[in-house]
Amino acid sequence: MPAKRVHHQPDQLPRVMILATGGTIAGSAASATQADYTSGRVTVEAMIGAVPGLNEIAHVHGEQVANVGSQDITFTIMIDLANRINALLKTDGVDGVVVTHGTDTMEETAHFLNLTIKSKKPVVLTGAMRPSTAISADGPLNLYNAVAVAADADAAGRGTLVVMNDRIHGAHSLTKTNTTSVETFISPINGLIGTVNYGKTEYFRRPFRKHTHKSQFSVEGVTSLPRVDIIYACADMPADLIDGSMEKGAKGIVVAGDGNGNMNAATIERAALAAQKGVIIVRSSRVPTGKVGRNVEIDDDRMRFIASDELNPAKARILLMLALLKKRRLDDIQQLFYDY
Ligand code: GLU
Repeated sequence: MPAKRVHHQPDQLPRVMILATGGTIAGSAASATQADYTSGRVTVEAMIGAVPGLNEIAHVHGEQVANVGSQDITFTIMIDLANRINALLKTDGVDGVVVTHGTDTMEETAHFLNLTIKSKKPVVLTGAMRPSTAISADGPLNLYNAVAVAADADAAGRGTLVVMNDRIHGAHSLTKTNTTSVETFISPINGLIGTVNYGKTEYFRRPFRKHTHKSQFSVEGVTSLPRVDIIYACADMPADLIDGSMEKGAKGIVVAGDGNGNMNAATIERAALAAQKGVIIVRSSRVPTGKVGRNVEIDDDRMRFIASDELNPAKARILLMLALLKKRRLDDIQQLFYDY
């Protein structure tokens, strides 16, 4: 599909709601070249005001949902956000939603919304790597592009999207790869959904996995999620981390394994004992790209482990937390990792 920019009559502009949660896009520093800054200082109205031409591509309204660095995003905020977006998208008054968010945990909130939003209308997350006060702040153009995608009927049905640095990523694939660069997000394994350049959109594909209106997960009426911990594998890792997690009440443990979801023999033994006691053990990988397959170097069938397939540890954790809202068989949980 060639790149396009849709022109609407002013009275027919799409209506886009911007829900702000904080992050660097709303961050400010004492000077334009300062590396240290505070996230979540600028209000949604000020962010909208900093983007010239926004009102020519959509009728935008802003709502402040939170104002934190995304390292402080909680599941309470994610649940409130999902329920608020579902309520907004049920009405005829909103055609699309943009969520402004810190980049640190953006992939987690995007994945959570991808699993819990019940609408085909576009939901687009965006943020910035440079605070609003920096030289060449990237937030205003990212916000402009995110609104253009949220206002675009062709973005519908593609799941929750992330627009950063001219790229349109799908929630399932994207991951943050650089601590400071504006080109931080990549979509390994499955690739980009499309690109957006000064509001001109182009799409390459639709997500292959289930999402949004086809997802079985819902957080309506949910106030908390079961505890699932992530344990990072490394050479000679201490196996008793598994026991510590279980003692703290984890219902599931995701191992960010080395390579194809591996862990040392001592940890396999402790994890298999935890699995026997009903704790769900998911093998994911600390490696940024590639699938984790079942029964490759570890006998998952015998150990009663789950392979995370394409999901990285942070996203595997979210899928498992939502899955554990109801009682499920082990093979059903494994199937979820192939379906979502
Ligand atoms: N810690 C900040 C956050 O996630 C920095 C990342 C950003 O927004 O770019 O909110």
